[in-house]
Parts: sequence; C-alpha cells; structure tokens
Amino acid sequence: MSNLTEKLSTLFEAHKEEFKELNEYLYNNPELGLKEVKACAAHTAILKKYGFEVETGFAGLPTAFIGKFTLGKDTPKIAILAEYDALPGVGHGCGHNIFGVTSVATGIMLKNIMESENIQGQILVIGTPAEETNGAKVDMANQGVFDNIDVAMAVHPGGEAHFRSGSSQAMEAIQFTFKGKTAHAAGAPHEGINALDGVLMLFNAVNALRQQTIETARIHGIISNGGKAANIIPDLAVANFYVRAKTLDYLKGLVERVKNCAKGAALATGTTLEMMNYETSFADLVTNKKLSETYEKNLRSLGVTDIRSKESGGSTDMGDVSHCCPAIHPNFPLTTKHLTGHSVEFACASIAPEAYKGMKEAALSMALTAIDIFKDPELLKEIKEEFNATFKK
Ligand SMILES: [Zn+2]
Ligand SMILES: [Zn+2]
Repeated sequence: MSNLTEKLSTLFEAHKEEFKELNEYLYNNPELGLKEVKACAAHTAILKKYGFEVETGFAGLPTAFIGKFTLGKDTPKIAILAEYDALPGVGHGCGHNIFGVTSVATGIMLKNIMESENIQGQILVIGTPAEETNGAKVDMANQGVFDNIDVAMAVHPGGEAHFRSGSSQAMEAIQFTFKGKTAHAAGAPHEGINALDGVLMLFNAVNALRQQTIETARIHGIISNGGKAANIIPDLAVANFYVRAKTLDYLKGLVERVKNCAKGAALATGTTLEMMNYETSFADLVTNKKLSETYEKNLRSLGVTDIRSKESGGSTDMGDVSHCCPAIHPNFPLTTKHLTGHSVEFACASIAPEAYKGMKEAALSMALTAIDIFKDPELLKEIKEEFNATFKK
C-alpha cells in the first residue's frame, strides 16, 4: 500500500462514524426527487464543516448543491456527483443514501490530502437531485454545468462485486393521448369514436415493430387511462411509454417509428392524437475507458480482485454528463450477495455494517484517481483525447 493510500485509509476510518451517521439519517428520512430538502441540508452541512465553499439551489434547482475546494491556479476541475433521492414505497431501495455519502466522503478525504501533501487541483462535489424521475443532471448538462469540467465521477451501490463503468440506454418517455367521442356502447356504438381502440392498436403496432428493431432496444408501456365504464365508448385513452436504445442516434429513429405506430392507430380509428414527453429524456452513458482503467488500477491497488463487467438495460441521467465531459459511473458492492434494485432488501443492505467495505474501496479509488489526474497532466490529456475522438468529430 502506498503512503497516500494509507493516509486515505486512516482518514476514512477516522470519519467513519460520521459517514455512517449521515448514511443512516438519509435512510431514515427518504425523500422523493426534487423534495430532498433534508438530504440537501445534511450533505451541505458536512461539506461546510470541512471547509468547502457551498452553494445551495445550484443550477436553479432548490435541492441541488455544489461544494467547491480549490488549491492553486488553473488546475484541473474534477466533479464528484452525489445522488440522494428515494423511491415511493421502498425508501432508499436504490441506495442513493450511501451514494450521496460516498461522494461527500471522497470530497472530504481528497481535500484533506490535497492540503497536507500540497496537491493542486479543484474538487467540485455536486448534489444532483431526482435521478429516479426528472434527472437533474440533464438540466445541469443543458445549462452547460459540465462543459468546463475536466472529469466527472459517480459511483452507484449494488450487490455481489465491483462492476466497471459500462453503458446505459438512451431513453425517451412519451405519452400518447387519443381522443374520440362517447356513445352508448351497446345502444349506439356507431355514433362513438373509440379512443381506447387507438391505444390498443398502438400497442399491437408496437408489438409488431419489436421484431424489426435491434435486439437491445426496449419499448415498454402502460395504459394510464383506458376509459370510464364498459358501457360507454371511451372518448379519452392515454398510454405512457419508455423507448430505449443503446445510442441517441438509433433512439431518434426508433422514436419516429413508435410515433408512426401511434399516427397509424389514430388514422385507423378516426381518433385525434397528441404526443408529448412526460419525463426528461436521458442520453446513453459513454464510459471514458482511460478514466475507467485508472479507477480500476486504483481499486486493484487496494487489494480488490473481483471486478466485473455488465451491460445495463436501464437508463441514467449520468448519460447526459458523459456526453459533456469524460465520465465514469461504476458500481461498488454493499454485500457479496446478489441484490435486486428498487427493493426493500436493497435499502436494508445500504446500512448494513458490511456496506462500508465496498463504500471505502469506491471512495478511496475515486480519491486516488483524482490525485492521479491532478499530478499527471499526460493522463488528463489522454482522457481528453479519447473524449474528443468520441464526441468532437
Ligand atoms: Zn440508482
Ligand atoms: Zn434507481
């Protein structure tokens, strides 16, 4: 173990009770997206306590924040992103309590080491609300928050083992509203226009479309309004869909095809159709390989050997960040067992004593990766070259 690693390890142990207290406080006070008032206050309080310059209401979002620490001039800017929103019914079933604490812990340890070792750089701990719904990182990306940041990192809790930063699906959330005309369903059906038929034909057309898409694409929907009574021809029917694909380019074409299914259904049934995005759309996650390798090298330096790869079928607002600056989004284990996401078991695992082992490994690896970048301009150059080759064609 290097001198720096030992110092970071000692720092983590010295602060462990405080990190644990914050983690359990968040677990006991789960708040839904954009309502994370207590979580935002708790994260900013600890950052202030350790000397970060803190701003709440960051990027025009009341429960977002930024904590800054700078040493030196014109030094690299590294963002550590924190999530802290919960889910309805299962509290912190996605573990965003320990997600937030890990990011704040990384920032606090990093600042301490930078000061004691005179390592120059800039750390930004950014609190990003509502990952599960409206994805504040998308708003922030649109406002240019990540455009002049050199590197962004965020680690998500999970089960089993450490997982490398991989990919996630680009996603668009579309609502289809079909409008028709009510009539007695038995007495005068010919006088009605059936909005529910519009929705049903949309589903059938989408089911046919599935065979003609690439395997990894996902189209899934629900009927959120299917009429009021079986003896009334419905004049209003609504379906909510998520359309997902590996790349934004493919998604764009796929969304057009799904919309054409809806237009065809409206034409066939004589209904009128309205389409809108009912939630924020997410870009796909593009992992910066050089940055990911650096994080993995640091994990291994801590003695971690079980590091796996996996493909995600889901989507995250970290995707949008990865299109603005070099980024990674690996997973760290709360337990050696498999965990199902968005479950009560997941929430319980986030405060179990063994959770702090994976958390410590992730926080130390993020801190060591930041130090590598601060100390080695060549490394940052390589990371940026890879990013530019991917996005600035
Ligand atoms: Zn999550
Ligand atoms: Zn989640």
